[in-house]
Amino acid sequence: MTPQRWKVGELTITSVVEEQTDHIPPQLLFPAASASEIAVHDWLVPDFADADGKISMRVQAFVIEARGRRVLVDPCVGNGKKRAMPFWNERTFPFLERLADAGFEPGAIDTVVHTHLHADHVGWDTRLVGGEWLPTFVNARHLYTARELAYCRKETNPGIDGVFADSVAPILDAGLADIVPEDANLGDGLRLEPSTGHTPGHVSLWIESAGEVALISGDFLHHPVQCALPSLAEIGDHDADLARATRRRLLARAAETGALFLGTHFGTRPAGRVVARGDAWRFVPLA
Ligand SMILES: [Zn+2]
Ligand SMILES: [Zn+2]
Repeated sequence: MTPQRWKVGELTITSVVEEQTDHIPPQLLFPAASASEIAVHDWLVPDFADADGKISMRVQAFVIEARGRRVLVDPCVGNGKKRAMPFWNERTFPFLERLADAGFEPGAIDTVVHTHLHADHVGWDTRLVGGEWLPTFVNARHLYTARELAYCRKETNPGIDGVFADSVAPILDAGLADIVPEDANLGDGLRLEPSTGHTPGHVSLWIESAGEVALISGDFLHHPVQCALPSLAEIGDHDADLARATRRRLLARAAETGALFLGTHFGTRPAGRVVARGDAWRFVPLA
C-alpha cells in the first residue's frame, strides 16, 4: 500500500494506516443515527459510507515532516494491548512495518502529539519487550495536556481501559513526556488548539507553512457525516454538548480558512476541504 501524502506549503503530511473497517452499522458509533439517515447523505458514498448507510472508519497516524523534524500524531491502538473492545484487544498490526515503508524508523520520530488519550490514539507509544512495556519512539518528546493526563490517570473513565498503565506510565517513567498548554506553539508552524468535549483535555493540531494551512482533527469529529450533522454525538463523547459546540466552532474555522482538513478517523480519502452548506457543512475529499 503506497502511503497517502499531502503538501502543506513546505511541509509534508503522511498517513500511516493501522486499520480501515468498512460497512460498520452507524449505531455502533452514533447511537442516535440509523443507516437510513446516513444513506440520505449520498455524497459520502463510496469513500465514507456504502449505499446502505453503513460507514467506514480508519485508525491512522499522521506524520508531519517539518524542516527536518518528524512529528507523529496519534499513534493508534498498538499491538498486544489488553482492551475490553474486542477489535482493539491483543492485535498484531503491521503498523511499524508500514511506518518504515513510509520512510520513518521509530528512532527518527522526534515528537509525538496526542489529540487525546483514548486507546486508539496512544497505543504505539509502547511495545511489549521481554514482558515489559517500553517506549517505541525512544528519541521523541511525547506531548500531553495536563487535563487529558489527569483524565487518563483515572482508569475507570470510558475509553481509557488500561491505557495509562501500559501506554502512558512507561513514557513518564522513561522521562520522555512533556506537559504542554492546550494552545501550545510547537514551532515550525505547528500549533495546538483546545477542542474539548470528546475528552476533557482534547486538542487538535493546526499546521501552517508558506501561506497554506491544515487541521488534524483528532476526535472532535469522527466521520464526515458529522459535517452535515454536527449535533450527532459519538458514543465516546465525554461531554456531548461541549463536543457539539466544539464541532461547530472548528468546522466553521476550517471552512473560513480553506484549511486542508485531515480527519483522524476518516477512511479512504481522509484529506479534503470543509465547505459551508446551509447551516452546516460538507466534506469534499481531495481526489
Ligand atoms: Zn476518542
Ligand atoms: Zn479515536
